[in-house]
Amino acid sequence: MAKLEYDETGRLLFTEEMKKDYTLLMPSMAPYHFIYFRDMFRSEGYKCEILENNSFDVIHEGMKHSHNDICVPAMLVIGQFIDAMKNGGYDIHKVALVMTQTGGGCRASNYISLIRKSFIKAGYEFIPIISANAVGLEPNPGFKITRSIILKLISGLIFGDVMMQLRNETIPYEINKGETEKVYKELEQKVSNYFYSRDLKVFYHPNKLFGEVIKRFSEIPTDKSVKKPKVGIVGEIYVKYSPLGNNGLEQLLLDEGCEVVTPNIFDFFIYTFDSAIHDISKYGGKRYSKFLQKLLIRFIEYRRNKVRRQLKKYGFRVYNHFYDLRRMSDGYINRGMHVGEGWLLTAEMIELIHIGAPNIVCTQPFGCLPNHIAGKGMIKRIKDNHPQSNIITIDYDTSATEINQLNRIRLMLSNAKRNLS
Ligand code: SF4
Repeated sequence: MAKLEYDETGRLLFTEEMKKDYTLLMPSMAPYHFIYFRDMFRSEGYKCEILENNSFDVIHEGMKHSHNDICVPAMLVIGQFIDAMKNGGYDIHKVALVMTQTGGGCRASNYISLIRKSFIKAGYEFIPIISANAVGLEPNPGFKITRSIILKLISGLIFGDVMMQLRNETIPYEINKGETEKVYKELEQKVSNYFYSRDLKVFYHPNKLFGEVIKRFSEIPTDKSVKKPKVGIVGEIYVKYSPLGNNGLEQLLLDEGCEVVTPNIFDFFIYTFDSAIHDISKYGGKRYSKFLQKLLIRFIEYRRNKVRRQLKKYGFRVYNHFYDLRRMSDGYINRGMHVGEGWLLTAEMIELIHIGAPNIVCTQPFGCLPNHIAGKGMIKRIKDNHPQSNIITIDYDTSATEINQLNRIRLMLSNAKRNLS
């Protein structure tokens, strides 16, 4: 075990010495994307694993080691970490946990301190807990967000979004059952290899790879004459993307014969930069920070434009530019509402209706206030303006019965199928 060092506030640090033989563990929050985060860290010299434990023990440990008033995503993440410590077969004196932190106004910004509290309570106070954030919170000598990591992170998020879209857009219509999954796995490996490229390749190579991935999916034989209801998934970021958080919602919808449309995760990240810009413009702050974040959004959109061109070329759905997406929430909700998913959640529901996916499951962790305002709170207005919309909200709670969720989803699907005919 490495020598333990603390900062002046008493926070346990992840040191240079730990980097050599400690394994970083991350919760599996968004499976399509986090697999590339693993490669990103490994290629930068860290040992890294994504946790995939999802048994009932995870929920049980989460409930046992956190207060029942805290958000469901925090409870599940804590449960996944503690279960991994007990049953994952790791040397608990050689692991550190990594958790993303937005630095925004929502309770999500406190997940790190909640995890620490629960780890101390469970007797794991010697395990370093690292905050992965873009705003310089809680620095660690052995964990640095370098230029190379930022470039790889941008690519990882775009690849995750592209793979998620293409898999969901192809599977329901494939002629040879299982072919999409086979291609998906093949490409996942190819994309993983990209992260181990060096310097200039990290910068230029993804554009070529985007094209190869999209072309390969376009070669899968499909029959699009079969009409399937398109169902969008929106909501709080964890329950929207994590099968552990939403009881495998994507697979459930696929099994019910739907085409799943899940908005890109990258828009959430851009939304956090845009929210910071909005706040600086409104309330003051560092002008260079505003300038840098604007520049970053431009660079990300430059990269995503390359993907949009390829998607169009091969006949796939082309997603909106961030600022076009933002405009969709005008007249519904103020841009100042950027706690949790804020206005982005409203904008995504309207975007889904525009692209022909008016059937929407709005996933909400039980008791999540911002999502009840920007999600559930907006539905009546959206329905008034778009009568074809067919939106339901589903509360996800560690003690909720799955059958209730299933019944409500099936009710929405029966409307969706009727509207299709
Ligand atoms: S968005 Fe909801 S679930 Fe997420 S931290 Fe905020 S209140 Fe909790």
